[in-house]
Amino acid sequence: MNIILLGPPGAGKGTQAKLLQEQYGMFQIATGDILRAAIKNGEPLGLEAQKIMDDGKLVPDNLMIRLIEVKIGQLKPGTGFILDGFPRTVPQAEALDEMLAEQHKSLDAVIELKVDEAALIERVSGRFSCSNCGAGYHEKFKPTKTSGICDACGGKEFCHRPDDNAATLKTRLKAYQEQTAPILPYYRQKNLLKTVDGMAGMEAVHQLINAVLKAAKSTAA
Ligand code: AMP
Repeated sequence: MNIILLGPPGAGKGTQAKLLQEQYGMFQIATGDILRAAIKNGEPLGLEAQKIMDDGKLVPDNLMIRLIEVKIGQLKPGTGFILDGFPRTVPQAEALDEMLAEQHKSLDAVIELKVDEAALIERVSGRFSCSNCGAGYHEKFKPTKTSGICDACGGKEFCHRPDDNAATLKTRLKAYQEQTAPILPYYRQKNLLKTVDGMAGMEAVHQLINAVLKAAKSTAA
């Protein structure tokens, strides 16, 4: 299956994508992660994107579209994908349709995670990750089992995303409302959009998404 997870920053797209990847073997394509890796590795894409990301704004469509085209083209035949962070504008959604048609692929579902704005601030400001393996945590909702030690690799150093602060979050939410939310009617019209209550716990949201995917599968069959 090929799906898109949509939702504002902190809605839980990355967490849910990882759970789906584990369960179904679909491949998570997280544009934010790809850009952060490009910054870390000093790649030209990273140099171009860094300031924009730090300001909480959106990287230009042409760069993102090219990036996704390459990533989707690299998937092994038969491997489904979960897009996490793309598309973020209507032109990106239109370009995705075109490239999928060219690659004889299609979307099975677009899942919107709906979360109250106040919860987003709490979710985003508390998250951190292991500097060594990248495992993600949250001060309140998902702390490490032993304080100061990564559950996954035993690492002792952690970092916060530079754009996970209250001021930048404001700009990111504005970008979501103004540039990304107009995608919702685009997919609703195509009968692909399903909205899930993202306020529930991590496992409950996963089950809600599973139910959507089951329904999409049986419609396709
Ligand atoms: P994320 O990790 O998905 O929250 O993305 C972090 C930042 O990367 C965003 O605030 C944007 O600056 C940039 N970004 C990620 N995906 C896209 C995209 N599809 N279009 C434009 N900018 C993006």
